[in-house]
Amino acid sequence: MKHFPIFLAVEGRRIVLSGGGDAAMAKLRLLMKTEAHLTVIASDVASDIRKWADQGKLEVVARAMVPGDAYGAALFYAANEDAAEDARVSAIAHAEGALVNIVDNLADSQFITPAIVDRDPVTVAIGTEGAAPVLARAIKADLEERLPTSLGLLARIGKTFRHAVEVLPMGAKRRDFWSAFYFGTGPRAFAGQGEAGVLPALEALLDAKITSAPTAGQVDLVGAGPGDPELLTLKARTALDKADVVIHDRLVTGAILELARREAIIIDAGKKGFGKSMRQSDIDALIVRHALDGHHVVRLKAGDPTVFGRLDEEIEAIEAHDIPYSIIPGITAASAAVANIGQSLTKRNRNSAVRLITGHDTKGYADHDWNALAQPGEVAAIYMGKTSARFIQGRLLMHGADPATPVTIIENVSRADQQIIATTLAELEPTLSQARLQGPAITFYGLAPRDAQSNARQLREFAS
Ligand code: SAH
Repeated sequence: MKHFPIFLAVEGRRIVLSGGGDAAMAKLRLLMKTEAHLTVIASDVASDIRKWADQGKLEVVARAMVPGDAYGAALFYAANEDAAEDARVSAIAHAEGALVNIVDNLADSQFITPAIVDRDPVTVAIGTEGAAPVLARAIKADLEERLPTSLGLLARIGKTFRHAVEVLPMGAKRRDFWSAFYFGTGPRAFAGQGEAGVLPALEALLDAKITSAPTAGQVDLVGAGPGDPELLTLKARTALDKADVVIHDRLVTGAILELARREAIIIDAGKKGFGKSMRQSDIDALIVRHALDGHHVVRLKAGDPTVFGRLDEEIEAIEAHDIPYSIIPGITAASAAVANIGQSLTKRNRNSAVRLITGHDTKGYADHDWNALAQPGEVAAIYMGKTSARFIQGRLLMHGADPATPVTIIENVSRADQQIIATTLAELEPTLSQARLQGPAITFYGLAPRDAQSNARQLREFAS
């Protein structure tokens, strides 16, 4: 982010603009929405600008800018549509302490003006750092359509009512009140009776909420997928949007946590294999405590919560307290990883079953039916398989598996730093150790990346 978006307090402050033509007018139309004192300095100003001056919306100084004109200005716009004149006036404004924007000159501007969706006091600012004005306009058009024009009015009335709403306990109940107002009662009252209907509707809604029973907590056990936020389900997004508390695993990425409601409490219950960790019983207790406080808890787990997620222990704890819950499935690492190597988990005439196995469990390296796995055509997705690779390799070879069986390791599936290592059972170790992987990795036994297969085929054809 080269530009940091902020909302600048300009009420009663000076904003000075140099220029009197089309570029100046375009900026002034935006600036006139503010409560700043606007001064336009130009020897020649368009008739519209004069009209605005006559209406008291701004002040015109009908001459070229001179030193002293930008004293005390919060912002300064150079809009002369003349590079030399813009450079001259900007130097003055800069020396006099104003933040400077030169229209259509990103490199020399200290700030840029975003595209704005105006539902005052609700303002949406859209910026692309000058990279894609077309995109900014498209987003603006989309939001203009989506946000009802009454939104600003509702927000203004809502603001005057904030104090009264403090009778409701903080958290879910207060939030329910506001969401009912902005998305139900408010727009309905406005549509039916206009502005006059909004305040009475607000009062009636508050009365109803004061006397209603306290909100019960709930838990959503949510799959966060392998890391790419676009691999979240819509249900997961909605749950994150509403959460009061998000309790997440170590593997859940920052990009996904960003999607949680701004006010949500985010708790890292990260558990490192063999390392320092929060005990499962502590996590269970944490979930239960927040839900009993009336909160909407999202227990966010990497991948799918039902795959090596210790889900059942959490469900038992939740059920023991009669707390309502739901399970929202996610894309498990194996599904995302297999897609990224262009393969299928199952394939007719190759493997009609696939095993999801873990490299180690709470007791150490996990044992499996090695004899069955060693048969030709078997496919397994090995979770938590980094430290146990040598053990698995040894067991499979000992049970007669073909050393040439393809093995693919995919680290950081679906993330920008995803890495694919194609090898064979014979080479699995030391290949894996030598790769010194830092991120989570899933190992496919019995699958090669489609590319490697076709490369191998091409090489064979070339050789023959
Ligand atoms: N519930 C998770 C699995 C949790 S066990 C799921 O459905 O994916 C943790 C193991 O999952 C890791 O050791 C690793 O083997 C695998 N894993 C999870 N996210 C991964 C990712 N983004 N890339 C590669 N492997 C991942």
